[in-house]
Amino acid sequence: MCGIIGIIGNERINEELYIGLNIIQHRGQDSCGMCTYDGKFHIQKHEGLVQNSFTPEKIKMLKGTIGIGHVRYPTAGSGGVEDAQPFFVNYPYGIAMAHNGNIANHKELSRINKNEYNRIVNSSCDIEAFLNIFAHNLEGKTFSLKIMKNALLNTTNMILGSYSIVSIIGDYGLLAYRDPYGFRPLIFGRKENSYIFSSESCAIDTLGYKIVRDVRPGEMIFINNKGEFHSEIITKAEYRPCIFEYIYFARPDSIMNNILVARARYNLGKTLAEKIKQLGIMPDVVVPVPDTARNAALAVAKRLHVSYQEGLIKNRYIGRTFIMPGQDIRVSSIRQKLHPVKEQLKGKKVLLIDDSIVRGNTSKELVNLIKQSGAIEVYFASYSPPVKHPCYYGIDMQTESELIANKMEIEEIRNFINADALIYQDYNDMVSAVKADSNIKFDNFCTACFSGDYPQPIPKHVLNDVINDRTSK
Ligand code: SF4
Repeated sequence: MCGIIGIIGNERINEELYIGLNIIQHRGQDSCGMCTYDGKFHIQKHEGLVQNSFTPEKIKMLKGTIGIGHVRYPTAGSGGVEDAQPFFVNYPYGIAMAHNGNIANHKELSRINKNEYNRIVNSSCDIEAFLNIFAHNLEGKTFSLKIMKNALLNTTNMILGSYSIVSIIGDYGLLAYRDPYGFRPLIFGRKENSYIFSSESCAIDTLGYKIVRDVRPGEMIFINNKGEFHSEIITKAEYRPCIFEYIYFARPDSIMNNILVARARYNLGKTLAEKIKQLGIMPDVVVPVPDTARNAALAVAKRLHVSYQEGLIKNRYIGRTFIMPGQDIRVSSIRQKLHPVKEQLKGKKVLLIDDSIVRGNTSKELVNLIKQSGAIEVYFASYSPPVKHPCYYGIDMQTESELIANKMEIEEIRNFINADALIYQDYNDMVSAVKADSNIKFDNFCTACFSGDYPQPIPKHVLNDVINDRTSK
């Protein structure tokens, strides 16, 4: 999972990119990068957080009225600065590109680049392979919208996986494109003569742009250097945006498909509460696992007529455990990250609400933390159903064998995490709760990690490449 921003049309692009990337920092903390264009490309890429990477002097060097930025969470590649985005090719035109997603067959594309197009892909980052295929399709051609569209079509025909893209095309303008399933979000906004594209609407809003709408699946949007706007749907498939964005990844104040993420989480809490009631579980206190579970926990507490307490305090200066590469770091950071408020837990039956259970280690440690704080019983409720299948579209969920719900029944999981009761959201309740407030028509969400229904099937040999990538981290 990553975050992207693209802006065109004003002199303060560098500052806006910096602020925007800070706002979507939650989407990736491994590395960050910005690229602007003023007749020359200016690129800076760093490991770590945006605010630690860009000084005012460095930001000033990023000149131009068009720019793209990226925060990275590695789904492909090692995660070092050599894999940081944006990537750049100088022929033809000079093209810079950044994406959010996971191009499952990027290794195959790198082989094609080398063996057939005489193009070397230097990193193990998936978008560099995409960029070189795209550039190959533009080689020797005078730029036009039609030429760009055909090059994009030829490229996307070769791609498996998910990708929302922003790209600077040299002297010509800013390109944005969302894959035909619309797996990963991409929203755009406008302020006077400037346009902004972002993975999340909260960045668009904060920078004072008016949110226009989500980029549609398969839609190519191009804004040229004169500010002229062109949009066209160039590829079609089922619209299947990722449901996990609403559950876990996106900020609660973001809006995707006209659904406010906070509202979706609140609705998920309401349906979860009904299930908890039916099971006859009655806690003394409802405690969210911060930050994602707050909205759902509020709804559960309200529906159960039970007190809501912030029984776990989060250290804001430690990264999200789920998006840290490597299991060792993930386990050890939980206790650094969350501190129990013993006075609110001691002697109580505590209902802990979390967004999901992926590997089970975090949940187990949380239950133990609460018990060690003096709770007499700990019930654990996940406002999403069991995660049984890996994601090949941009969220790093490792392999099937590492997903606890893939190898254990619910009772075994309850036992493993040492909870007195374990409640999962029902699948149909999850889908209807998230969809409840949307007035946008789309086919369905991608729910593959819960259902195994992969909107775009990935062939076995490509899956093997993805699994090798993940297990070698
Ligand atoms: S498999 Fe899960 S995490 Fe991946 S895109 Fe689909 S719903 Fe989202």
